[in-house]
Amino acid sequence: MSLEKKHLWWQYLSWPEIVERAKRCDIALFPMGSIEQHGPHLPTGHDTLQLFKIGEAVAERTGAMLLPCPWYGAHPYHHWHFPGTIPLKIDTCRELVKDVVRGAANAGYNKFIIFWGHGQAFALDPAVHDLGLEGYFVISVMLWNLVKDIHTEIFEDPFWHADEAETSIGLYTHPEFVDMSKAAKELPTTFVDGRFVEGPSDKKGSFAGEFWQGTWAAPEYKDLKKGIIGDATKATREKGERYVTKVIERLIELVEHIKTRYPVGVKPPVK
Ligand SMILES: [Zn+2]
Repeated sequence: MSLEKKHLWWQYLSWPEIVERAKRCDIALFPMGSIEQHGPHLPTGHDTLQLFKIGEAVAERTGAMLLPCPWYGAHPYHHWHFPGTIPLKIDTCRELVKDVVRGAANAGYNKFIIFWGHGQAFALDPAVHDLGLEGYFVISVMLWNLVKDIHTEIFEDPFWHADEAETSIGLYTHPEFVDMSKAAKELPTTFVDGRFVEGPSDKKGSFAGEFWQGTWAAPEYKDLKKGIIGDATKATREKGERYVTKVIERLIELVEHIKTRYPVGVKPPVK
């Protein structure tokens, strides 16, 4: 996160500034990443680092507040135990999200958009529904779900992990931490045929559900040598820029829509 953009982030402002900002725009953006191995060529903070540029672009253009981004996230069973990965348990992550929303709402923020760059729907979706029962308006969006329709226009391969897509994004959002001389290709072992597994960028509507639903993948710490799923050598900065630019556009569209439908001070009647 750049200090030039510090005026966009909650943690650099005083409480009266935060309260004043909510009187102009009461939408808060909540980035959620993870600390996870991303092969030998990407930093472990990749999922979180990519969100800084995206969040700052959206906040700058819409006036929405950026909440401090937790570096950690929740992980499915097959990510655990790989060196470099620091997983939160599902319940820890779920409660963290709920506490952040409750705290931020106390300063006058009425609408929340959690945007995340790491597959953790299994932890964030329950948090959103718990908060809904308490009366909080929260939308939770995974970045790759915003742009599934254009994925194949930009990338040769589907979105998996530390691969063509993620490495391209890294080359655009935090190139100073990417080492393409270590980029490689690797594929995981799955316990069922690929046609029964829906990947992050798939639109096929597999009956087995999305990739985190089921114990279908071999534990990565035993299965992967490098920690890549896909072909990172196909990555380019240009592909990353096209992808991230579209993600930003669509997030802005969402914020503007909420602003129009629920003007500042209006809380959607969730409860
Ligand atoms: Zn990632």
